[in-house]
Amino acid sequence: MKNKWIYIEPTVFIWQDSTHYLFYNAINSKKVFIPHNNTINPIVQSLCIEKNSYCTKLDDDISNNKEFEEFIDILSSNRLGNIITCYDSKRPVNIPPKLILDKPVENIKTNGEYFDPKILDDINELIIQLSGNCNINCKNCSEFKLQLIHCSQSEHTMSNEKIEQLIKQVKHLNLKKLNIIGGDLLSMKKFESIIDLLSSVCVKKIFNVHYHQLKLDKIQYLLNKDETSLVRICVHFDGIEQNQLLRQIEKVGKYNARVLWSFIVSSENELEFCYSILNKCKSIQHEIKPFYNKNNEEFIREFVFVNQEDIDAINLNKREIFANQVLNRNYFGKITILANGKIFDNINFKVAGNIDDCLEDVIHKIITEGRSWRWIRSNDICDNCLYKLICPPPSNLELVMKSKVICQTPKSYKSA
Ligand code: SF4
Repeated sequence: MKNKWIYIEPTVFIWQDSTHYLFYNAINSKKVFIPHNNTINPIVQSLCIEKNSYCTKLDDDISNNKEFEEFIDILSSNRLGNIITCYDSKRPVNIPPKLILDKPVENIKTNGEYFDPKILDDINELIIQLSGNCNINCKNCSEFKLQLIHCSQSEHTMSNEKIEQLIKQVKHLNLKKLNIIGGDLLSMKKFESIIDLLSSVCVKKIFNVHYHQLKLDKIQYLLNKDETSLVRICVHFDGIEQNQLLRQIEKVGKYNARVLWSFIVSSENELEFCYSILNKCKSIQHEIKPFYNKNNEEFIREFVFVNQEDIDAINLNKREIFANQVLNRNYFGKITILANGKIFDNINFKVAGNIDDCLEDVIHKIITEGRSWRWIRSNDICDNCLYKLICPPPSNLELVMKSKVICQTPKSYKSA
């Protein structure tokens, strides 16, 4: 006897709210909205029951139902699923996308004995502040570091012994990137010996320097010392003359391949200024970083928050969707160590430890306490949004703006 089954492709995620289903195919990023109706509701619910594995038997009399025909048309034309006919009654084998963690956090929490010998492998990026010493007094000094990798003023400086001790530990980590920040990094006492020490760590190093504190001889020293080093120069546009900036860019020109100009913008005017510089200096490496200064919410919402077009263009694979379910792709694996020895997973969260603590214990605490590494998009607004798992992970920008969302609402669901 013939049995008809409807199945959904294993690469397709199904999410639902009170009016629509969103079928998202992680192979081609196709997003298809289908409004609820009485014919398809029981079918989709049955497909989503775990033991049914995205495959459910169809009643004989459903084939001539118009709503059902339309549903199958949408599924097949978008390669989301289809109907299969079998001659026995066994459910065809299918594997819906399901996240299976090999190290569930719950195990770490409930079993005090649990210890992961590879826990330090989770650290992939380190931000170390060597000194907070600086005499510029920028207006928003204490705010920049809350949103960006940026220098900040403080009365602390890490001793050379501490730096040495830290570097010994850092050498054994599985780092992809090491960010060095100040204060005024290039004016540090014993600058050359610190650079010599850091060059023994074989990882991409980014030295973050403020535009007003450029010292060409020091930049030359650190770039020559270690071919994995880069310099990121942070430029704030307030009080800067275009010609003066162009002259500086020209001076650094011979290091262009290893210098990243980081333009920090807070308004449309600054953005225009930035574009006019970039028009004149086409060969420089650059990034444009928005900064919320507490008076520019409109600018941030318009130029940074995602709109419908941005969401439509989001293109995540299965692994990235799974990641969004359990961790924050912006912050997972990042650690900041300040010049006073305090360790943070994210500078906007409470302190996680101290440089003298056992690093394994600090990371264990970060993972089990569900801090920024596991900060996922979950709140009363996003929990009711079908884009929740494809939307960018929550960020420090939303935190400092006290916004629960990164989108320009309202959003629309265009049905297939
Ligand atoms: S920020 Fe939240 S509400 Fe906005 S699109 Fe993303 S998930 Fe939806």
